[in-house]
Amino acid sequence: MVVKQKILRNVCLTAHPKGCREYVENEIDFVEKSMKGSDERYPKLDTKPMNVLILGCSTGYGLSSRIVTGIGMKAKTLGVCFERTPSSKPATPGWYNTKVFEEEAEKRGIYAKTINGDAFSDEVKKEVCETIKRDLGKVDLVIYSLASPVRTDPKTGITYKSVLKPIGNSFTELSVNSKTGILEKATFTAATEEQAKATVKVMGGEDWKLWMETLLENDVVSDGFKSVAYSYIGPKITYPIYREGTIGKAKEDLESSVEEINALISKKGGEAYISVNKALVTRASAVIPVVPLYTAILYKVMEDKGIHENCIEQMYRLYSSKLPSKSTDEKGRIRLDDWEMREDVQKEVEDIWKTLKEGEELVQGDLEMFRTDYSHLHGFGYKNIDYSKDVDLERP
Ligand code: NAD
Repeated sequence: MVVKQKILRNVCLTAHPKGCREYVENEIDFVEKSMKGSDERYPKLDTKPMNVLILGCSTGYGLSSRIVTGIGMKAKTLGVCFERTPSSKPATPGWYNTKVFEEEAEKRGIYAKTINGDAFSDEVKKEVCETIKRDLGKVDLVIYSLASPVRTDPKTGITYKSVLKPIGNSFTELSVNSKTGILEKATFTAATEEQAKATVKVMGGEDWKLWMETLLENDVVSDGFKSVAYSYIGPKITYPIYREGTIGKAKEDLESSVEEINALISKKGGEAYISVNKALVTRASAVIPVVPLYTAILYKVMEDKGIHENCIEQMYRLYSSKLPSKSTDEKGRIRLDDWEMREDVQKEVEDIWKTLKEGEELVQGDLEMFRTDYSHLHGFGYKNIDYSKDVDLERP
């Protein structure tokens, strides 16, 4: 079948099997080159034997975490994701990425298994514990990288939907039409209290804590194990829609659950961390209003300064330096957004933002890079791939 890129309301509906292979291989390449140790920003990773559980392992930050630990650190990885399998239509990108990752791990003699199911459910938690017991014994690191629009509470059966809205007042800000590049004003109505609570239910800390309880009860974590969950803060411009909006409330909840989780896992000598990551184009973030405009400008500024990173560089820095050195801010959070939030970077972003005018084309941001990155996430936009050729939907 010939697979074409189909975009509807800024969301890409198709994925190209060969392009997804390219995406994963490029990330693996970065890790293997960095392991030669020639770039001091990305020093060699520790390769002492380790078992890693990655929740949300198939795209974005979770996939890069898996590649860094599974290929770079040679860890045995068990991943959990929720991806559509191929039918008469292509699968979702994460399904192809996972297949490629498993193949590449196998070629290198490294264990990699994946459970494709709802990580919020009791059934998947049980299956994970059984798989760990059977194949790995215990895990030393648990990475929590889920990004989902819905969650069914396993205790009550109620399904909650997350929304991306401001809290209190509606919010109007410039946004960019990623198709035309034209700046448009976008207004977002305030969330109801119920919507805000539902978003916390989906993206807050409750499920992370449930995972920790389940793993402890089943005795499948090693002494001194670590767990890391990912968060985002960002600049003041995006506060109303992000940090002070519904998703920000969920992130606050996630961040504040660390204390409770640490109290829980300290009996096993366990340690939980929040890593505040950089704003990047991922399938989850591309749909957050205003964020694509901010990201396009940020990319340009960081590129010009030679400090732009993608998911793989971020995760490499996390597992090679930030986590081992336990370097945190005053609230105990690892700050991988350190370069994004640098004063000079934010000052330049703000200066550009002040010049933006509704109806004009965005010229001072790298929208092309944003578009290319978004296409790559779905396996499109690679110059070395002939997109007019038939591909096997089952075999990336
Ligand atoms: P993503 O959409 O690329 O990845 C989400 C992952 O979660 C996928 O592997 C998907 O299969 C999995 N998933 C979703 N629902 C699931 C379910 N019910 N059961 C099992 N797996 C499920 O997202 P991302 O942007 O990499 O986000 C990962 C984390 O990083 C999130 O917590 C996000 O808030 C955080 N983060 C993202 C950014 C950013 O700019 N993208 C910045 C900082 C922090």
